[in-house]
Amino acid sequence: MKTPFLDFSNTYVNLPDHFFQRIKPQKVKNPKLLKLNLNLAKSLGLRIEDSCHISIDEILSGNKLPEGADPIAMAYAGHQFGNFVPSLGDGRAILLGEVLTPKNKRFDVQLKGAGITKFSRSGDGRAPLGPVIREYIVSEAMHHLGIPTTRSLSIIKSDDFIQREESFPCGVLSRVASSHIRIGTFEYFSYRKDINSLKLLADYTINRHFPSIKRKKNKYQRLLIKVQSINAELVAKWMAVGFIHGVMNTDNTSISGETIDYGPCAFMDYYDPNKVYSYIDHQGRYSYINQGKIMFWNLSKFAESLIPILDKDSDIARNIAVDVLKNFPRIFEEKWLDKMREKFGFSSKFKDDYKIISEFLNLIKKEGLDYTKAFRSLIFDNDEDFSFSNFDFKDSIASKEWFNSWKTRLHKEKKDIQNISKSMKKINPIYIPRNHIIEKVINELVQGKGNNMLEKILELTEKPYTYQKDSKYFELPPSPSEEVTNTFCGT
Ligand code: AMP
Ligand code: MG
Repeated sequence: MKTPFLDFSNTYVNLPDHFFQRIKPQKVKNPKLLKLNLNLAKSLGLRIEDSCHISIDEILSGNKLPEGADPIAMAYAGHQFGNFVPSLGDGRAILLGEVLTPKNKRFDVQLKGAGITKFSRSGDGRAPLGPVIREYIVSEAMHHLGIPTTRSLSIIKSDDFIQREESFPCGVLSRVASSHIRIGTFEYFSYRKDINSLKLLADYTINRHFPSIKRKKNKYQRLLIKVQSINAELVAKWMAVGFIHGVMNTDNTSISGETIDYGPCAFMDYYDPNKVYSYIDHQGRYSYINQGKIMFWNLSKFAESLIPILDKDSDIARNIAVDVLKNFPRIFEEKWLDKMREKFGFSSKFKDDYKIISEFLNLIKKEGLDYTKAFRSLIFDNDEDFSFSNFDFKDSIASKEWFNSWKTRLHKEKKDIQNISKSMKKINPIYIPRNHIIEKVINELVQGKGNNMLEKILELTEKPYTYQKDSKYFELPPSPSEEVTNTFCGT
């Protein structure tokens, strides 16, 4: 009988041997399945039979290899906080294999926290349970907010412990991604001047992610254009929901335009453009407001790594790269504006929109308002309610002026307030996975107190735009005593 799992169809392993290390996950002690994402499992074609439940725990922990898996750790390099590290790679993640869904979409299934590989350097190859839970909750919430992201299939808790600031139980996350190719994967081969491999990687990436350009003459330039565009859009989407990635190193930037490698990430509560959650980010390099600029910087590293294959003549290649990159600020600003416009109920475009948006952000910063709630408070169901007195702002000249300019702008939409409010309700979430809630979930699960909070936050963030009964607490920002200043640091 087949091991109940997935029909693997692996392709990355067909690339040359130095693209990866073939390695099996290291066993963990007493794996327990804390969460299985049933909908995702179904969409991947995962076969689960109750009688085989134990096997699922064993498989998703890495203790047993399912049929068809061909586990590898992928090689990559990367710029970490601006500094180049020539060899990073999967130091604690092992790719089990790839799956083709019935809709013919290819996904990687990877175990994070699966043990030591040749890329582990001084690391222990493991992931503490806390960050595994955080990644599960946040990545799934991002997915339901319509933001491209890797997804989470399961959380495993084991009886092994690892040392960070304290001793923590180990976890294994199974992560599903449309691939794990990063900007850093390109940097790995480019740095080594391994042009054959660089071409192989670029062709593989084009085949897998951008097949429409594979027969084009200037396909590598088009690859750069595509990767730039989807990643500009990705960051615009993060900004619109107040998401801070936290470690936008080039090894944590996916070629597929998916959010990847959730570490010290968070959704902002009160609005502060300079907000940073990572306790190691002293300079604020990866602050909320810097994310567009940092993506631009990361893409310039991607462009640089493509130079050897953009043209035989390096001057021409450089010009090609610069010509693409110089469009980034415009593309990003347009995508950001489009996303923000939707939040204010604008479906048309007017020149003053930027001013209205930025004045609103200044106001909520000045008043210390919660980012998510402030947008939700802009929704009025009918004309009678649509007045300044029903509005969340303090009564000031500036806020009244802003309200009136927004109201005037909405008149240009030529839609009634009910229709405007309908569209705003579909874009401004009620429920986001707030940091203090995630901390509570982690504490409950680490202390073995059950998974009620986990199930609740997953249920709410699965339908982020729909009010649910008895859930007021989850709408609200933290009370002063609940506020988490840093995210879980030891990942
Ligand atoms: P991250 O900061 O999680 O994106 O990881 C950066 C690099 O460090 C990657 O090459 C990871 O594989 C590696 N790494 C992170 N944590 C560990 C660990 N506990 N053991 C081994 N390698 C790790
Ligand atoms: Mg990483």
